[in-house]
Amino acid sequence: MSVERILATKGRHVLTVSPDSSLHDAARLLAEKRIGALVVSSPEMQVKGILSERDIVRAVAADPASLTRPVDEFMTAHVVTCDLHTSIPQLMDKMTMGRFRHLPVVVDGRLAGLVSIGDVVKYRVAEIEAESRAMRDYIATG
Ligand code: AMP
Repeated sequence: MSVERILATKGRHVLTVSPDSSLHDAARLLAEKRIGALVVSSPEMQVKGILSERDIVRAVAADPASLTRPVDEFMTAHVVTCDLHTSIPQLMDKMTMGRFRHLPVVVDGRLAGLVSIGDVVKYRVAEIEAESRAMRDYIATG
């Protein structure tokens, strides 16, 4: 299974913020949409960074006035991305190595989706169940 299959079910819409939005606006959007990260993008949907709830917690713990500062002061600018052909084991590797839970999908230099650790777990569990069903059928008919 690849990112393309995951996005076919999940959809390609990604919640984004612009680099000059305030940290407070970003926090409000995360809370309202019940998600853990926003991709920071240009109007042309080029990925400029990623801002997760952890970045906001860190910023506010250091200085509560950070909430009025722009997002690009707190985002991670070096974003690890994947493409439509990235496999589930590759997604798991990237998340484990980078210690993060979100991977923007980039196609032709533009944002084309987002995969979270929740998506990876969901599809990996489905794969394991399908493998075990196939094994049971094989044994039963063998
Ligand atoms: P997360 O586990 O996704 O909430 O993010 C933990 C930290 O990693 C935060 O500082 C994020 O800005 C950063 N981060 C999240 N996703 C990525 C990514 N795909 N590439 C680089 N950094 C990321």
